[in-house]
Amino acid sequence: MIQQVHSHPDIYRIRVDLPDNPLQYLNAYVIKGVSGNLVIDTGFNRPECKRALCQGLQELDIRLQSDTSLFITHLHADHSGLVGLFAQAGCPIYMHPVDYQYLVDSEDGSTWKAAEDNFMREGMPPAEIKTQFSNQARTFSPDPHFPVNPVHDGDCLHLAGCDLQVIHTPGHTPGLCCLYLPKEEVFFTSDHILFDITPNIQVWYHMKQALQRYLESLQKVWELPVRLALPGHREGDTSIAGRIDEIVAHHDRRLAEICHLAGLYPHSTAYDIAPHMTWSMRGKQWKDFPPTQKWFALGETLAHIEYLVDYGVLCCREEQGCRHYDLVRTET
Ligand SMILES: [Zn+2]
Ligand SMILES: [Zn+2]
Repeated sequence: MIQQVHSHPDIYRIRVDLPDNPLQYLNAYVIKGVSGNLVIDTGFNRPECKRALCQGLQELDIRLQSDTSLFITHLHADHSGLVGLFAQAGCPIYMHPVDYQYLVDSEDGSTWKAAEDNFMREGMPPAEIKTQFSNQARTFSPDPHFPVNPVHDGDCLHLAGCDLQVIHTPGHTPGLCCLYLPKEEVFFTSDHILFDITPNIQVWYHMKQALQRYLESLQKVWELPVRLALPGHREGDTSIAGRIDEIVAHHDRRLAEICHLAGLYPHSTAYDIAPHMTWSMRGKQWKDFPPTQKWFALGETLAHIEYLVDYGVLCCREEQGCRHYDLVRTET
């Protein structure tokens, strides 16, 4: 299903449904120019997504060849999964090198293993970790063997007849990059800013303080003049500052909630704390959460705990290979 979201330049959204995924669909954007086209993000590496993306491109009369470029905003498989289609057709592919390297490193499973070991130290039972093997991010990930044109913060790309500014906004992933059209004030926010749901913030083995970095990246774009914001999932908006304030307030509430729970349940692991947090899973209890959602929820809890430990609000004690957290008591 395609929808034109902007004229001059002509920008279209291809809705790529993500079956059995709470995100529902990915927005792949296409800038259709006279002498070339730009596709932004792809959908998972699975037949349903491939069909939707290819059908959308066909309706727009876009053939995958060297005058069509692909920009991958970040490493997540729902954005990068179908990169192979573009690589085979010889399309130039742009991506931040940090996220590209992560895809390469993931190929032998070592990054997943590191994450599993870490989650085990945070109290997740091994049986629970085993259920993660069906995680869509693993099953539908891209083949990382593609040539990449590395992009960095502040780069200006001239693609599809447009001048596009690359804005590196680490947090959701280490290398997430948004794209900005300064003249038209159109901002492709990817998963940095979502409007109907809150972007997930995880812990990363190669990016310390993901939450702190994310909050800094929100401030980085707060003043950006925006007339049209086009997110990676769900619907967009005509401004971003108000939404950024809401997202910051959401994380403040989360931090306060964890402090409260750490006081209520001293010496808990992150896995002990996570079920008591407020999650909007359509009224589901923690025990009924799908395995992938538990994984994301624990990761998000940990990102907030890491922040609080760094600021000296919580302290961490490791006992028998498992980390426990307590509020730091200040003597009065
Ligand atoms: Zn993402
Ligand atoms: Zn996404």
